[in-house]
Amino acid sequence: MTNTSNPDTALVLFSGGQDSATCLAWALERYPRVETVGFEYGQRHGVEMQARLDVRRSMVERFDQWADRLGEDFVIDLSGYGAIAESALTADRAIEIQENGLPSTFVPGRNLVFLTVASALAYRRGHDVMVGGMCETDFSGYPDCRRATIDAMQSALSLGLDRKLVLETPLMFIDKGATWALAHQLGGTDLVDLIRRETHTCYTGDRSTLHEWGHGCGTCPACELRARGWQEWTEAA
Ligand code: ZN
Repeated sequence: MTNTSNPDTALVLFSGGQDSATCLAWALERYPRVETVGFEYGQRHGVEMQARLDVRRSMVERFDQWADRLGEDFVIDLSGYGAIAESALTADRAIEIQENGLPSTFVPGRNLVFLTVASALAYRRGHDVMVGGMCETDFSGYPDCRRATIDAMQSALSLGLDRKLVLETPLMFIDKGATWALAHQLGGTDLVDLIRRETHTCYTGDRSTLHEWGHGCGTCPACELRARGWQEWTEAA
């Protein structure tokens, strides 16, 4: 462990989904040394944690230029937080729109907690940059995905750590179609294929069917968003 800063490294918040896998590729293109962090917070589906490992392994196997750059992976147990934040993602509740207009998949304060915990790791590991897949274009109403929230966190963490910490959000202002386009730009059809096959986005944890846009139940909000983005990208390409 080191706590001296290094501008050539980045810590990627990596869940194993389409967005964070694209962010990981984005970071590997830019930074000579990249580490990843994921969180266990009582997800119903171990498939997400398996997808993290599969994506990391495939990126090393299929992209020589990234293999030497991808460093350690950290998984942090936040199951205590998961118990507080219980919602449809972490408990057995239906996925629906609640009275306050937010989907029941909203985990209150999730990104605030993730960024705070990740910043402690970044500090210890000497990263000045953290990269996350937050996006306010398709944000499903999640208020902690807005850039304004991320800007406030960047200020708070930099002040609280007394070290400038930059929070990069390469997907913030693009939609899901453009996220596929970004993956294609970063790693061509090889990366698109890797993300399609290896990442996991579906809320129900369904890996039984490989659609043209990837694995999933095909009907939950996350699958609908992913399928629509794929369609937009393929129609535009
Ligand atoms: Zn689904």
